[in-house]
Amino acid sequence: MKSFKLTKEEATMLAQKYATPLEVISLEHIEENYNLLCKHIPRLKVFYAIKANSAKCILEKLIKLGSNFDVASAGEIRLLSKMGVSGEKMIYANPVKTIEGLIEASKVGIKRFTFDSENEIDKIKKYVPDAEVLARVKIKQSDAIVNLNIKFGADETKILDLLNYAKANGLKANGICFHVGSQVLSTKSYERAFSLARGLIDRLKASGIDIKYMDIGGGLPVACLDKDVDAEKIMKNINDCLVDFEDVEVWAEPGRYICGNAVNVITSIIGKQMRDEKQWYYIDDGIYGSFSGILFDHWDYDIISLKDEDNTYEKATIAGPSCDSLDIVKKEMYCPKLDEGDLLIALNAGAYSKVSATTFNGFSLPKTVALE
Ligand SMILES: *Cc1c(COP(=O)(O)O)cnc(C)c1O
Repeated sequence: MKSFKLTKEEATMLAQKYATPLEVISLEHIEENYNLLCKHIPRLKVFYAIKANSAKCILEKLIKLGSNFDVASAGEIRLLSKMGVSGEKMIYANPVKTIEGLIEASKVGIKRFTFDSENEIDKIKKYVPDAEVLARVKIKQSDAIVNLNIKFGADETKILDLLNYAKANGLKANGICFHVGSQVLSTKSYERAFSLARGLIDRLKASGIDIKYMDIGGGLPVACLDKDVDAEKIMKNINDCLVDFEDVEVWAEPGRYICGNAVNVITSIIGKQMRDEKQWYYIDDGIYGSFSGILFDHWDYDIISLKDEDNTYEKATIAGPSCDSLDIVKKEMYCPKLDEGDLLIALNAGAYSKVSATTFNGFSLPKTVALE
C-alpha cells in the first residue's frame, strides 16, 4: 500500500494547467484503500466518515463502490443527498445532533443514529420516532494520535440505562458503537475495545436489550508504509478479533484511512530569505490552508522538493504565505537550493487538510482536481 506520489512531470504539468496551490486526488488510491478494507474484513459494512475529505470526486467514487456514509451535520446530509445517496446508506454518528440536522435526517430517511445521553433520545424520537439507536461507549485507553473520547462516549456502566431509556421511548435500541481515537498506531486500542464490547453485549443481552449492531468507528491509520504503522496488519488483526462477534453485524466509519494517502498538494515557492543565517522559503499554501492538519490533526506532512538532486542539500524552514508567525509548515527540511516558482509537493495530505482550511488573510483555498 504505497502513498500516492505525483511524478515530476505530472506535478509540473498540473501546476501549469491549474496554478498552485493545488490539491490532486488519486481516485485509484481511494478505490484501492476501500477494496483492501473490504478484502481484509469481508463482513464489514463501511460508512465513510466524510468529514475527513468531502471532495465530490471522492464521494462519487465511493458511491460507485457501494460505500455507506457517516454524517455529522445537516450540511453533510444535504451534500450526499444532492448526490443521490439515500438516508438508508447514512448513519448520523454525531452523538450530539442539531435540530437542523435532525430535520434534514428525517427528510432524507436516515434511520440510524448514535447517542450518549438520555437528552439526545428525547430529541431523536421527536423527529425520527422509528430510529435505530447505537449507544456510544467511552474508550478510556488508546494509543491513537487524536483523542476522540474526551467529548463523547458514556461510561460502560451507563449503557444499559441509556438503551433502556431509548427502548422505553419507542426507539429501536439495538446497537453499541465506539471510536478508539484517530490514527491508531497498533491493534491494541481495538483489542481493548473489543474485550469491553464483548462483555457489554453479553450483559445487555442478558438484560433484555438485543444488540444487533456493533459500530467500531474510525481510527484506522493513513495507509502509508513510511509512517511506521501498518494499516493492513491492523485490519487483519481486527478481522481475527471479529470471530468473537458472530452474533452482531459489524460496521465501521473509516475516514483518514480511505483518503489520507490519496492526495498530494502542490505548492510553489513565493519568496526566500536568510534569517539568522538560516534559509527560509515561503510557499503559497500554509497552516491556514491545506496544512491546517498540523494544527487540528497533529499531522506532520511529508514534503518533497521536485528539484533534481544535487550536492547542495541544506536545512531550510518552510513557511506559509500569511502574516502570522504560527504559519510554519516545516521547521527543518532538507532540500536543494530553491528559487521562486519551484514546486514542493506534500504527500499523504488527503485527510483533515483542505476540509479544515480557511481563507484567512485573503488567501484562496487550493483548487481540487482528480488525477485519473
Ligand atoms: C471523525 C470520526 C470518524 C472518522 O475517524 P478516522 O479516525 O478519520 O477514521 C468516524 N466516526 C466518528 C463518529 C468520527 O467522529
